[in-house]
Amino acid sequence: MEYRSTRDSKIRKQAAEVIAAGISNDGGLFIPANFPDLKGKLSEMSKLTYNRLAEFIFSLYLTDFTAEEIAACVGGAYTKEKFGGDVPVRLVKLNGEAEMLELWHGPTSAFKDMALQILPYFLLTSMKKVNSDKKALILTATSGDTGKAALEGFKDVENVEIIVFYPKDGVSDLQKRQMDTQEGENVHVCAINGNFDDAQTAVKAVFTDAEMKAFISEKGYFFSSANSINFGRLLPQVVYYFYAYFDLHKKGRISSLGEKINIVVPTGNFGNILAAYYAYRMGLPVNKFICASNANNVLADFINTGVYDKNRGFFATVSPSMDILISSNLERLLSALYDDDDNEIKTLMESLKTNGKYEISSSAKGKLTEMFYGGFIDDEETKTVIERTFDECGYLCDTHTAVAVGVYETYKKESGDNTPAIIISTASPYKFAGSVLSALGGEISGDEFAQIAALEALTHTVAQPQIRGLEYKKSRFDDLIDKEDIFSYVKSII
Ligand SMILES: *Cc1c(COP(=O)(O)O)cnc(C)c1O
Repeated sequence: MEYRSTRDSKIRKQAAEVIAAGISNDGGLFIPANFPDLKGKLSEMSKLTYNRLAEFIFSLYLTDFTAEEIAACVGGAYTKEKFGGDVPVRLVKLNGEAEMLELWHGPTSAFKDMALQILPYFLLTSMKKVNSDKKALILTATSGDTGKAALEGFKDVENVEIIVFYPKDGVSDLQKRQMDTQEGENVHVCAINGNFDDAQTAVKAVFTDAEMKAFISEKGYFFSSANSINFGRLLPQVVYYFYAYFDLHKKGRISSLGEKINIVVPTGNFGNILAAYYAYRMGLPVNKFICASNANNVLADFINTGVYDKNRGFFATVSPSMDILISSNLERLLSALYDDDDNEIKTLMESLKTNGKYEISSSAKGKLTEMFYGGFIDDEETKTVIERTFDECGYLCDTHTAVAVGVYETYKKESGDNTPAIIISTASPYKFAGSVLSALGGEISGDEFAQIAALEALTHTVAQPQIRGLEYKKSRFDDLIDKEDIFSYVKSII
């Protein structure tokens, strides 16, 4: 498989180069030059275990990896020890139409583990093929969950140094605690004054700066990324959409392989839903993608109007991992909507950079709305959904997952579409215990661990041990910088 840049179709790379580099030199994102067609293989694929299915799908994209290398990556990442079962994901019934696909049974209790547990294996394998004489310096901007998952995935990985930047007031107390207590000799955590977009933009500026690249190269490093701009983050996410589809079939929720489903995704940077779209391009039978946003509703507006406009107020919500106004991975979907016309994408992205907005053509908009529905709910509605879903279905949602459930309810009412659906459950409710507790009418007092205990008592469920265990861990990091100082901060680390 060859990869090209969304902004320059002449750039051609193999998977190892793509994974090591993270982003293309022209600022574009790497996309596969084509999609393997698996329509005729669904029945065969449905018989595979999760790990074998992952190996099969990876073998189509990581064509410069050997079968042994791929098997080693999968075997190292998706273990029972890390994900609490032979299958790293769980499909749990919600109601008559929908099943929740729980992706948060990994070490950091958010779906990011699905990709970030395997990315270090992909990266080390790639580094053996390219850049073999240098160490990787991974820079990551996080709205909360990526940071912890990346730290946990890359801690003490040989030849890798990782720095995570998070917006000072943009993550939950527990997310902050998860990051500040991270163990490992090669990890660094730093808060930035500003919001997630400030952090992401600052990281991207360092990442693409020629002088910085030369500086770190002299010190024996090259830049790599653990954000979902890295194709190595997206690829592992394709697998669980196929797996869940086959599981629906086994449960009798769909009667034949080939029957279409709806997929509902709580969305921020557009990575998870894009992976679902890629699965569809490979032959997964999908009727509609339902893209759910919180009060930062730039994506919902985009899908409804064809205009992407980030010039708007930024809200710090109870679903902080979706508090994003610049959804990086949308660029990859745009590329698909424009038949991978690199000039069109360059023009749109220039417009986003200079005017903070762009409008897509009517033919691109037609393709977009044929497959995508966009909606949003605010914090108050999110809390109502948490309460209602728990009362009526006995399902305890975290704040992000609740956004998906709420938007799906609106979609069903508006469309009357009762196609079987998978709703993506992206985090443990205990990661956002305070918000979930208050949504259920519980009394908020004490610190986040008191709230976790109160939520356990109220719902008769239990927090994962890795969340409870944070209470007694020592805080290791308290750096705080302005975004202008990110260059000197990175230099000071290496
Ligand atoms: C990252 C995250 C999201 C958003 O996923 P994207 O791939 O950025 O769209 C949703 N929910 C949770 C809990 C997350 O951590």
